[in-house]
Amino acid sequence: MNNKTATPVAVIGLGLMGQALAGAFLKAGHPTTIWNRTTSKADQLLAQGAQLAPTVGDALKAGALTVVCLTDYQALQEVLGGADETALDGTTLVNLTSGDSTQARETARWAEQYGARYLDGAIMAIPSGIGTVDAVILHSGPQSDFEAHKPTLDALGTVTYLGADHGLASLYDVAGLAMMWSVLNAWLQGTAMLRTAGVDAATYAPFAQQIAAGVAAWLPGYAEQIDQGSFPAEVSAMETDARAMAHLVEESEALGVNAELPRLIKAMADRSIAAGHGGEQYPVLIEEFGKPGID
Ligand code: NAP
Repeated sequence: MNNKTATPVAVIGLGLMGQALAGAFLKAGHPTTIWNRTTSKADQLLAQGAQLAPTVGDALKAGALTVVCLTDYQALQEVLGGADETALDGTTLVNLTSGDSTQARETARWAEQYGARYLDGAIMAIPSGIGTVDAVILHSGPQSDFEAHKPTLDALGTVTYLGADHGLASLYDVAGLAMMWSVLNAWLQGTAMLRTAGVDAATYAPFAQQIAAGVAAWLPGYAEQIDQGSFPAEVSAMETDARAMAHLVEESEALGVNAELPRLIKAMADRSIAAGHGGEQYPVLIEEFGKPGID
């Protein structure tokens, strides 16, 4: 991870994540200029050799690239929009602030109109992981800008390029959230059910882990069916799955645990069966997921 190219960088935003990012640049030997609204958050980094920029504009002019990591895009607009606009001209911004794809695309247009080059990014890691290969950081925007700065960004973790559309990093980020919460909610559902029989969470957790890993292994094959638009029931048909879903709903209701998630799962399958897909395999549900649905 430690690279010898001492490219000067700037980091704007020194919250928990921004401090970790600046610390990783310093550790990799990059001269690092920092700025934060609350100056005291710079203290530890200054002790490690960072330079404090008196203004945001000074930070923007200090590095070959400027990493921005603030609470949200509104804070980004307040911070960068409040700077002298000429300071953006000729800079490269790498915005690692979390948000959605619309915000990313709008911010790209906004930055580019002032002559800045812009990459949007999403951090799939916690601050303590930054600077290690475990920290996956997604980027989208012009490929030439990503490639020009990849040797510097490598100091932060495993940096990955997704494509020219600035919205892609945020889209992958949010898609990942859907996966994370769905897996956790499914585990909590099962845990709530088993606790009624005196089985504690720690006893069920290894079983749940095994199931999650087994299901995850189906994804590439199911993805092929989705991309081909063809869903032969090679393992089981939706009608069979729907009968098992009814057991999940009935068991949850009988045990007096929350049955909202089981009912939602079954309702989507029932709609798919009603649309004529009962004999097809589970990923045919992509057609239900691909439209707004019922609130
Ligand atoms: P944080 O500790 O709450 O820090 C927020 C930062 O934004 C601080 O530097 C804060 O400045 C600044 N800020 C907020 N509003 C501002 C405003 N109006 N004007 C100027 N500065 C403003 O948050 P964080 O954990 O570092 O997260 C930063 C970003 O990284 C978020 O988008 C988050 O979703 C993303 N992220 C975080 C994690 C994580 O585990 N922490 C993981 C992945 C992604 P002050 O210090 O002056 O308040």
